Amino acid sequence: MSHTLKNKRALITGGSRGIGAAIVNRLASEGADVAFTYSSSPERAKEVLQAAQTLGIRAIVIEADSADASSVVAAVERTVTELGGIDILVNNVGVLATAPIEDLTLADFDRTIDVNVRAVFVATQAAVKHMKEGGRIINIGSTNAERMPFPGGSIYAMSKSALQGLVKGLAQDLGPRGITINNVQPGPIATEMNPPEGEFAEMLKKLMALPRYGTVEEVAGMVAYLASPEAAFITGANLMIDGGFSA
Ligand code: NDP
Repeated sequence: MSHTLKNKRALITGGSRGIGAAIVNRLASEGADVAFTYSSSPERAKEVLQAAQTLGIRAIVIEADSADASSVVAAVERTVTELGGIDILVNNVGVLATAPIEDLTLADFDRTIDVNVRAVFVATQAAVKHMKEGGRIINIGSTNAERMPFPGGSIYAMSKSALQGLVKGLAQDLGPRGITINNVQPGPIATEMNPPEGEFAEMLKKLMALPRYGTVEEVAGMVAYLASPEAAFITGANLMIDGGFSA
C-alpha cells in the first residue's frame, strides 16, 4: 500500500459490515487513523477493529445509532478527542426499506430520512467545525438516486436523491475553506443489504452493462481516491460506480 493517507484521521459511519467495513480497512491500509461507528453488530465491529489495529495505525470503534442525532455528534466529538482531529468523514450508513406505497408507514419514511439524510447533515455539520483545509467528506449515495427500475424503492431512492442536492449546496459552503464533499453512488454491491444471488439479483444483473455485482473493495477504492490529495479538485460531484446500471 502507498500510505497516501498517513497522518490523516478518518471517521467512517457504519463500519461493522459491508461497504463500511471495507472502507475502514482500505483507509487504514493507506495509513489513516480510523474511527468507525456501528449500531447493532458489536462482534463484527470488534473484528473490523482488530484487523485495522494490525495495520499499525490507531483505530477506535464507537457505538452510535445514526437515527439519533446526539449520538452522531458525540461520535464526531469522540473521534476528534481520541484521534486528535478529523480530516476525513465518510457517511456510509444507510438503510433500505422497500415496499409498495400502500404498505409503507410513516415510521419507514421517517427512519429512512433520519438515517440516510439527516445523519449525513448532522455528522457533516459536527465534523466541519474541526476540519482544516484539505478536509474530505464522502457520502455513500446510490445509483438509485438516478435510476429506480423496480417498484417498492421509492423512499430509498428519494433519500439518496436528497444527498445529491446536499453535496451540491455544501460544496459551495465548504469550497472556500478547501474542503471537498462528494457522493459515491454504487450500483448493486454484494453485501447483506443486497445479496448477489437469487431472483432479485438476477433481475438487477440484466440491467447492467457489466452483468455482475460489484465488490465492497471496489467501492472502498473509489472512496480512498476521493480521500487522497490527488482528488483535491473534485467537489459537489455524484460519482457512479455501478457497472453501467445507469448507463
Ligand atoms: P449493510 O446493511 O450490509 O451494512 C450497513 C452498515 O451500516 C453496517 O455496518 C451497520 O452496522 C450500519 N448501520 C445500519 N444502520 C445503522 C444505524 N442506524 N446506525 C449506525 N450504523 C448503522 O449495507 P451496505 O454495506 O450494503 O451499504 C452501505 C451503504 O451503501 C448504504 O448507505 C447503502 O444505502 C449504500 N449502497 C449499498 C448498495 C448495495 O448494493 N449494497 C448499493 C448502493 C448503495 P450494525 O450492523 O452494527 O448496525
